[in-house]
Amino acid sequence: MAKPLVAIVGRPNVGKSMLFNKLVGQRLSIVEDTPGVTRDRLYAEAEWCGHTFDIVDTGGIEPGTDSEILTFMRRQAEIAIQNATVIVFLCDIKTGLTASDQEVANMLLRSRKPVVLAVNKADQVGPTNPDIYEFYNLGLGDPIPVSAVHGHGTGDLLDACVQHFPENGEEDELDDVVKVAVIGKPNVGKSSLINRILGEERVIVSNVAGTTRDAVDSYFENETGKYLFIDTAGMRKKSKVDDRIEKFSVLRATMAIERADVCLILIDANEGVTEQDTKVAGLAHEAGKASILVVNKWDAIEKDDKTMDRMREDIRRDLSYMTYAPIVFISAMTGQRVPRLFELINYVNDQAAMRITTGMLNSVLADATARVQPPSDKGRRLKIFYMTQVGIKPPHFVCFCNDAQLFHFSYQRYIENQIRNTFGLEGTPIRLTIRQKG
Ligand code: GDP
Repeated sequence: MAKPLVAIVGRPNVGKSMLFNKLVGQRLSIVEDTPGVTRDRLYAEAEWCGHTFDIVDTGGIEPGTDSEILTFMRRQAEIAIQNATVIVFLCDIKTGLTASDQEVANMLLRSRKPVVLAVNKADQVGPTNPDIYEFYNLGLGDPIPVSAVHGHGTGDLLDACVQHFPENGEEDELDDVVKVAVIGKPNVGKSSLINRILGEERVIVSNVAGTTRDAVDSYFENETGKYLFIDTAGMRKKSKVDDRIEKFSVLRATMAIERADVCLILIDANEGVTEQDTKVAGLAHEAGKASILVVNKWDAIEKDDKTMDRMREDIRRDLSYMTYAPIVFISAMTGQRVPRLFELINYVNDQAAMRITTGMLNSVLADATARVQPPSDKGRRLKIFYMTQVGIKPPHFVCFCNDAQLFHFSYQRYIENQIRNTFGLEGTPIRLTIRQKG
């Protein structure tokens, strides 16, 4: 079942990022970075009273000028409404209630999404600051005073969020549906691909139980399976707003990726891998999602018998952190190889869900350490005691060893490659955690 998602929405400078950091706490610092990839820390996992959930900071992309603020907030709220389980609407006690707060509150009310109203910068402890009362005017219920700087009130805030999480199993109808995010820079052909797919396949319904809260998702099924294309309504009917506020493309992509099982990363055959593609692909990689690299507009370029191989090499070089992702060359315009995408989606989705027994893993480990000795330093040699899989999507392995310092990155890479050589795990990143024991 998908994890609940809490989205923090609010005017610029109300303290969204600071609250985000406070709620997420220590966890941010333990997220590993992929070399060459920068990801704005918009998304993180958090835990409260036994509930694990994701938090997204919809800030980080604040508008430049005042005139943009309202448009910005509307878009931000729209995205949160589409994707979040609970929306935290953050206001500022120092500035007080503003007209744009009221406007966004109305939007949130109309959406019928669970909303938790929090009022930040309530830094003093002690008797209730009467300034808080005006926030009742928003019609969003009791305002919770918080101080993102000091952490006061964050417990109450999280309690209020958790109350809105669905009970276990509420969304089970969606279990056999593969959720797919189509991502890529503007004009790479995302809408065209979705239109091609939905136009060709029989669209059954867009109102499966459990998908109602995501009215922008497109559901369909064919003989290969059931699929939910995430966040595609806006893509199908291109709105002008999207082009104007391009800043949102990263947030949109991030949210779609987090909800997806499989990402289709589109690359324009005319341009090859660009910096923006690297960034988009990095988001999928860091989110630990199964991915397929889809080179679109294959019809539009001049090619000979080497073109495909050359492009494949270029992609492998430019996106060296995701050599696990299969590459497919398509044309959304002519439909060339579009049907093949479904088999690939099923395949990488299954690969990401693979469970490997501890016995199997350890025989691969024994083999690997016999073939290439583990590193040593000043007479002390790395000993890997054993390895076990602790999670799927992506497959996550924990290695217990005598000295984590000695388990260099290159040796981790080597072990990862040995695992991949044996078990495949094609299309999915894998996580390796090193634990020191004894
Ligand atoms: P999006 O911004 O990623 O959704 O991109 P669009 O689907 O709007 O496509 C941008 C432009 O590329 C449009 O003019 C499309 O007609 C064109 N396009 C999309 N896919 C293909 C393709 O496979 N071949 C060619 N030649 N053009 C394409």
